[in-house]
Amino acid sequence: MSASILVIAEYRDQSIRQVTYEAIQAAKQSTSEETQIHVALIGFELDQAAHNLAKCGAETLYVMDHEDLRDYNPESYAAAVMHIIKESGSEGVYLGHTAIGRDLSPIISSRLDAGQISDVTAIEKAGDEFVFTRPIYAGKASEHKVFRSTPWVVTIRPNNIPAAEVSESDAERVDLAYPKPDSLRTTIRNVVQKSTGTIDLAEANVVIAGGRGVKGTEGFKPLEELADVLGGAVGASRGACDAEYCDYAMQIGQTGKVVTPEVYIACGISGAIQHVAGMSQSKLIIAINKDPEAPIFKIADYGIVGDLFEIVPLLTEEFRAA
Ligand code: FAD
Repeated sequence: MSASILVIAEYRDQSIRQVTYEAIQAAKQSTSEETQIHVALIGFELDQAAHNLAKCGAETLYVMDHEDLRDYNPESYAAAVMHIIKESGSEGVYLGHTAIGRDLSPIISSRLDAGQISDVTAIEKAGDEFVFTRPIYAGKASEHKVFRSTPWVVTIRPNNIPAAEVSESDAERVDLAYPKPDSLRTTIRNVVQKSTGTIDLAEANVVIAGGRGVKGTEGFKPLEELADVLGGAVGASRGACDAEYCDYAMQIGQTGKVVTPEVYIACGISGAIQHVAGMSQSKLIIAINKDPEAPIFKIADYGIVGDLFEIVPLLTEEFRAA
């Protein structure tokens, strides 16, 4: 493996996303002792974030703070990352398998002419090699992959690898100037936030998801109450999004977000393969559906056959009292 690895921190809404610490832990897990781990923090007005990130256990924290990097733009971020890779001499790069990581990683890989393994959920050492596991076929199978050469790029699925522990010592902060490209083919005019609650769906420990069975926008209310009590986030099937019961930002599945919470509660969701692709790796799956033949019960650890409008409020009441 390489002597130096770079983790690209994900900084959004003035906070470092949890997947950053998971990627740092993944880097620690997939390196030998002499390998140096560096972290790149890219954005605007980063002092507080840099202070918070300093104790992540990395050798160096590269900070690139510039107004042009306020919002994610693949062209400007790729220029920033490529510069930091060069400065740090890194041969391996880790990113979160998030909307940004999924967009940025292939650009970085192609510019580096690197191999890439995406959506990694586990890393193991086998002899001298590090074996990366990633789910395929909607979680029905998994691939085990190794790199045979450098450079390489890996994206980490959120919520699968434990976060790096806080270190006693601070990473050395190195500020780098933004190598502003002469021209950008795209510019970000403004970013419109679609609210999916205060907890990030992809990083939530508990997800309450509603399907077409919730019957309308109002039908999400009991799910939101249960999510509030459990400190979770509310997601949805594409069926519910297509029916305009909720925003597409909440969609879970093959063409939506991939979630791996500790607990996933599917309410009025049939369990189509495309939905299952986005949630089958959840640690505990509870399904509530009035149809005992619904396919979701095949992958559920616990199934409740009944009307979600009766069961969800009962669960909320019980958890609130507990
Ligand atoms: P339905 O299949 O209509 O199921 C509703 C369920 O609610 C039924 O099982 C019913 O028994 C139950 N129900 C009804 N009323 C109640 C009640 N009161 N209490 C309890 N249960 C009740 N889907 C996704 O989710 N995510 C994706 O990313 C995705 N990507 C796709 C990509 C492609 C290329 C294609 C072709 C499809 C994709 N789909 C995706 C759509 C997918 O195939 C299904 O159509 C969709 O998941 C169905 O949503 P649903 O389960 O909410 O609706």
